[in-house]
Amino acid sequence: MPSIVIIGAGPAGISMAVEARTAGVPAEDVLVIEKAAEHSFAIRKYYPESKRVTANYKGFEAVCTGTLCLLDSTKHETLSYLDRAILDHDVRVRYSETVYRIHQHEGRQLFTVMTDRGEYETPVVAIAIGILGRPNKPSYPLPNSLRSRLLFEITSTRFEGVRVLVVGGGDSASEYCQYLAQQGNDVTLSYRRTELSRMNHINEDSLRALADRGEARLLLGSDIEAIRDRDGLPEVAFKGAPAGVFDYVVYALGGSAPEHFLKTVGIDFDGPEPKLGAGYETSVPGIFLLGDLSAGRKGGSINWAFNSANTAMRRICEKYLPHA
Ligand SMILES: Cc1cc2nc3c(=O)[nH]c(=O)nc-3n(C[C@H](O)[C@H](O)[C@H](O)COP(=O)(O)OP(=O)(O)OC[C@H]3O[C@@H](n4cnc5c(N)ncnc54)[C@H](O)[C@@H]3O)c2cc1C
Repeated sequence: MPSIVIIGAGPAGISMAVEARTAGVPAEDVLVIEKAAEHSFAIRKYYPESKRVTANYKGFEAVCTGTLCLLDSTKHETLSYLDRAILDHDVRVRYSETVYRIHQHEGRQLFTVMTDRGEYETPVVAIAIGILGRPNKPSYPLPNSLRSRLLFEITSTRFEGVRVLVVGGGDSASEYCQYLAQQGNDVTLSYRRTELSRMNHINEDSLRALADRGEARLLLGSDIEAIRDRDGLPEVAFKGAPAGVFDYVVYALGGSAPEHFLKTVGIDFDGPEPKLGAGYETSVPGIFLLGDLSAGRKGGSINWAFNSANTAMRRICEKYLPHA
């Protein structure tokens, strides 16, 4: 029986396994389950290829408290760093396997983690599945006929000389605009607020510089009312401004905790956020939330994920694995 089952092999899940290995838990007692065919699915899917991965993302101080630590790097370097962490610490990941339920045994410190390929018993579960599996959607309906034109990430589509509307006001929205403009597209950003206060200074400056050079249009204070199908393209109706037709609309609205899954496990919530105690332990003793799931509404970063794993591991060692 594994001493710990870790769900998700993104930065949080990988660093959790590394922390367990560093604390002395044998490789065969640390099981990581990842639903994608490779680790760090969210990084692969959401980061533009040319993205600069910053260590102080979302203004988090770039301070590392655990074994892993990210410096400013490229997307490729970040993935290679995580590859190495897996190899160097003999972390065993079961890929292409999705966890859909965790059953708590009454009166015993024991869980059964159920996947589409099997079941695993363990006394400790670390849930590190992030928030990007369910990107936030706008409140107005999205026509089904425009499904291939209304996107939530930009790595699965080739954009060449097309009109793209990016919707959002955070770092991802700015990074999408920078990438799409570099690729020679006609880029517009729509954000409902009048100030770009949610992005870091580098991203704000880069976006404003794009606008100054005429390489992107900024529609600040623009509220989208509806999206209509205009001959197979999205026509965007703005409140109080003329409608526009684009080839693609890309939403960069973040994600949210998989509330249904976590509640089925028995985890208590405080409003939209799961309740977390010391070491990011949930209201179910022995179940921990890491990475983006432990970061609250603001969302997390890679170093946040690494640090959350170190904090959780210290608690796990004290409470559940005193001999590790
Ligand atoms: C566009 C964009 C740019 C960003 N830029 C930066 C940056 O420059 N610097 C930075 O520090 N941070 C950045 N971030 C944030 C950073 O990517 C996240 O904070 C980080 O990836 C969170 O790690 P995580 O392990 O918690 O979750 P994720 O990275 O989301 O990993 C979760 C993993 O769990 C797997 N999974 C999901 N459900 C299941 C299941 N049921 N069973 C098994 N596996 C499952 C997923 O496939 C995935 O591999 C950015 C985010 C975005 C969207």
